[in-house]
Amino acid sequence: MEIGIIGAGAAGVALLDALSLTDTAPGGVTVFEESPWLWRGRAYQPDLDAVRVNAPPVLMSIRHSDRDHYTRWLAGRTDYPDVGLGVQIVPRVVFGEYLEATAREAIARLRSAGWRVSVVNERVVGAAPLRTASGEHRVDRTVLAVGGGSPFDHYGLTGSPGFVLEPYPLAHLDVPADAHVAVIGSGLTAVDVVAALTASGHTGPVTLVSRTGVLPHVQQRPVPLDFRHLVRDNLVGTRDGLLDLLRAELAESGQDLAPLVRELTTPEDPVDRLRRQLSEVDSSYLGRRLVTAAVHMLGSAAWRLLPALDRESIRREHFRTINSLASPMVPLNGELLLREFDSGRLRLLSGVTKVERAARGFRVVGDREVTADVVVNAVNPQSHAVPPAAEPLVGSLLAAGLAALPPAGGLEVRSERVLSLGAVTAETSFVVPSVPTLAAGAAELVKRLSW
Ligand SMILES: Cc1cc2nc3c(=O)[nH]c(=O)nc-3n(C[C@H](O)[C@H](O)[C@H](O)COP(=O)(O)OP(=O)(O)OC[C@H]3O[C@@H](n4cnc5c(N)ncnc54)[C@H](O)[C@@H]3O)c2cc1C
Repeated sequence: MEIGIIGAGAAGVALLDALSLTDTAPGGVTVFEESPWLWRGRAYQPDLDAVRVNAPPVLMSIRHSDRDHYTRWLAGRTDYPDVGLGVQIVPRVVFGEYLEATAREAIARLRSAGWRVSVVNERVVGAAPLRTASGEHRVDRTVLAVGGGSPFDHYGLTGSPGFVLEPYPLAHLDVPADAHVAVIGSGLTAVDVVAALTASGHTGPVTLVSRTGVLPHVQQRPVPLDFRHLVRDNLVGTRDGLLDLLRAELAESGQDLAPLVRELTTPEDPVDRLRRQLSEVDSSYLGRRLVTAAVHMLGSAAWRLLPALDRESIRREHFRTINSLASPMVPLNGELLLREFDSGRLRLLSGVTKVERAARGFRVVGDREVTADVVVNAVNPQSHAVPPAAEPLVGSLLAAGLAALPPAGGLEVRSERVLSLGAVTAETSFVVPSVPTLAAGAAELVKRLSW
């Protein structure tokens, strides 16, 4: 059996590692990656130290069967503490080193078990047959691990001087120190931009501009979570059923849903909420911690069970809330934002409807109007979008009838010979797949590669 893995980001590493732990009869594995950054993908390339991972070590293991795999790799590192969480929150480039080390060990394990493993540093442009610029490659199974879409230019500013569409790597952000920077978005990428500007000595004002003005929640100190009710075997196909499981889970600790409901439904000024949540990092209430972990561990399995109408209404009404619960910022970054808000250098502008070029710089229209010298896009790619690098490949799958693009989004593969892992996969939730989500997906998928 010849396996082709397209994409050497976190998903590709998770898959290679999971495959290396099976006793599948040896064959051949070829990993195809177009970028020079093998085993890192978009998120974990070299960048500023200020750009940190956004989850504690216990939620960043690339090996689903071993939640402490990354914690062990980290052991002895004390250079990047997040005091609030009481754990190491390392620069993303350091997490990239972990991915790289894991991939190299997996390759060594596979080879010693008799597998042939090779890496082709080229873009795959066709899947049937699998093709790169250097020719055709024979594979029996193809796994698409190509990541998600590229940043979306909501306001049509591409080409305008002073507009940055792709903010990563933030080390390349070249902004005059005293410029007024408008950051489009107020999620985790916007937080990264503020961290990078602050670290590089930016002195000018920074405004986070967004429609909703919602900041990510602040993460709480990790505590062991022993899921008894909210587990894969109990998942049910309704929204209310999922809430019942969460209620039962909280009841195990003598807690109820009310504080979580209050947290999510009570209107509150975003900076006040940031300040309050920073003071609750050690709170013993489990509601937010349970939801965050469950979205990443079970989100896609639960999503598949929901009726289309439920999915649509959840996406329409709760997209922002679920995303900010699923991807909270680390306290370290929350404190940085609060310092910047309190100093007056950082502001939040919500209700934004327009960002356009002006005679000098840009005009931003929201609850009030501001002008900015530089605009940095920090809006995530649309969920389930196909990355530009994979468009020819996906086109060839569609043409061969091996895949389809269903109206609900994502790529639906229609052949046992093609598998997909990560953001483009249809029938997965709209939350950006995190490391544990990819690791869980890889563990499932590798069973389908065994024969
Ligand atoms: C900025 C950012 C920060 C994040 N931080 C965290 C975090 O701290 N914790 C967490 O749990 N999750 C985080 N995530 C979410 C998740 O970990 C990442 O999205 C994850 O790295 C995705 O991995 P991937 O392999 O699916 O995709 P990618 O990392 O995008 O990798 C896909 C790879 O496929 C290659 N590729 C695509 N098409 C082709 C082709 N046709 N031929 C050859 N190669 C191709 C690309 O070059 C790329 O290297 C973050 C996501 C982002 C975007």
